[in-house]
Amino acid sequence: MALVTTKEMFAKAIKSDYAIGAFNVNNMEIIQGIVEAAQIENAPLILQVSAGARKYAKPIYLLKLVEAAIEDTGVDVALHLDHGEDFDICKKCVDDGFTSVMIDGSKHPFEENIALTKQVVEYAHAHGVSVEAELGKLAGVEDNVKVDARSATFTDPDEAAEFVERTGVDSLAIAIGTSHGAYKFKGEPYLDFERLKKIHGLIPDTPLVLHGASSVLKEFVDRCNEFGGEIPGAQGVPEDMIHEAVKYGICKVNVDTDLRLAMTAEIRRVLAEHPEEFDPRKYLGPGRDAITRMVQHKIRDMLNASGTK
Ligand SMILES: [Zn+2]
Repeated sequence: MALVTTKEMFAKAIKSDYAIGAFNVNNMEIIQGIVEAAQIENAPLILQVSAGARKYAKPIYLLKLVEAAIEDTGVDVALHLDHGEDFDICKKCVDDGFTSVMIDGSKHPFEENIALTKQVVEYAHAHGVSVEAELGKLAGVEDNVKVDARSATFTDPDEAAEFVERTGVDSLAIAIGTSHGAYKFKGEPYLDFERLKKIHGLIPDTPLVLHGASSVLKEFVDRCNEFGGEIPGAQGVPEDMIHEAVKYGICKVNVDTDLRLAMTAEIRRVLAEHPEEFDPRKYLGPGRDAITRMVQHKIRDMLNASGTK
């Protein structure tokens, strides 16, 4: 299986001020849709699997589907575990052939986060697998990771430098104001760029990761709502803020909500306009095409983030 690590992807991205899109996968249509977009755009690609996705599809199905997508298209894919909550799930994924894992010890105190991350780094590196860790807490909800918005704390720059030094981690997810889900900001969108600059200044060679980075594009929210959805007031991170973040060390931009919205909007549209339809292929197919278009858009946007390419 031509799975690749994120090492080379990140080295190029950090040098040229662009970011790699990391897209969450849950089923065949989503995997096919994303990989087709990367093939068309000839772009590096990270597919990521959350604990929720493993539970939904069963790990073996996702693994075999990703293998099939690589064999079918020849696209280089880094396969990444998103928000691994303990050593065991990270070990399982390393043993299964993932090329990258995230250990999310952000809910633990600093020293415990370090100890847990170190344990995963030792095992993963011994098997040639990269590790992403998280410091600071995001607001919002993703799978079982719930963080009360009020107790959400941004990443401390000095702690980030110490954390990377002591754990030997390959990349670091930071909290600067993004959150998971489709409701990221109540008022004006705000990211703490001063904090990001400080972190990047202290650890300029460490690829930084932006979670909860979907843009929740209005067009797709509107289409969902037009065809029977009820997601009023959904708001994401404006794309120009993503571009700004990419200038200061953000190398991996996680996108899940935008895929969900694109697919759901299209399925809602097809079912509303063709109420006589009951063949799942007739709405899952267009849903898959919508994923491809969204991922193409995201890839182009992130590769051109520096405005120099
Ligand atoms: Zn996340």
